[in-house]
Amino acid sequence: MGRLADIMTQCHGIDIDEAQERLLMDDLHAIMKVNETMNLTRILSEEGGIVLHLEDSLTGLPFVEDAPEGAYADLGTGGGFPGMPMCVMTGRQTLLVDSVQKKVRALEGVASQLGLGDKVDVYAGRIEDLGRERAGEFSVLTARALSALGSLMELASPLLKRGGRLVCYKAQPSEEELSCALGIQDMVGLTLKERRDFSLSDGSTRCIFVFEKTGKPRVKLPRRVGLAQKDPLR
Ligand code: SAM
Repeated sequence: MGRLADIMTQCHGIDIDEAQERLLMDDLHAIMKVNETMNLTRILSEEGGIVLHLEDSLTGLPFVEDAPEGAYADLGTGGGFPGMPMCVMTGRQTLLVDSVQKKVRALEGVASQLGLGDKVDVYAGRIEDLGRERAGEFSVLTARALSALGSLMELASPLLKRGGRLVCYKAQPSEEELSCALGIQDMVGLTLKERRDFSLSDGSTRCIFVFEKTGKPRVKLPRRVGLAQKDPLR
């Protein structure tokens, strides 16, 4: 058992087999290689990458596995976290979404290098535009280090089918961020299903929020590009 599998079993009760661990480590190494010429991550050491990218990404696994069957997208994927690890572990058809074209092209290359070309698709563009093009198509979405909870809920809602889940990775949201998010649930048609607080193996605290699409939004979504993040609903 390698270091990652060890951490996941001991700290999170999540089992990773040898082939999965090899693929996850290959992904990390490939991203670090791309990072030599393109800014995909500020985490430069392998140990940092194991904890802050792979371990952190995989803490959301039980929530993605628990979502209804069907398509999965990682919103604002950056270097492919948590999207690529989630694809390795679940085998779900995965869409990696980011507005920066060159990041997305690099991820496409990494996916094909890992032999995941048929499981991973990429979308180079804004989440709001994807929300218009593929409304109601997704069973589960993830978002890490993208925006405040309320903005994530607004961006995600149009993409989700009823019963679909939004899994948000946060460090620690402020009381204000949380109360704004809870206050717009009806407006965007999402309901908080679960909150889990935990620590990573390096002691840093994390929080995962899972929302379910439970109804039709009461406002027309998506709004104009940029508004969800610049002028959040309240
Ligand atoms: N999720 C990755 C992670 O946790 O390592 C990357 C996080 S990075 C801080 C946020 C990413 O979201 C950036 O790559 C940015 O280009 C992308 N992004 C921000 N707003 C977006 C939007 N409205 N549509 C698509 N991508 C967006």
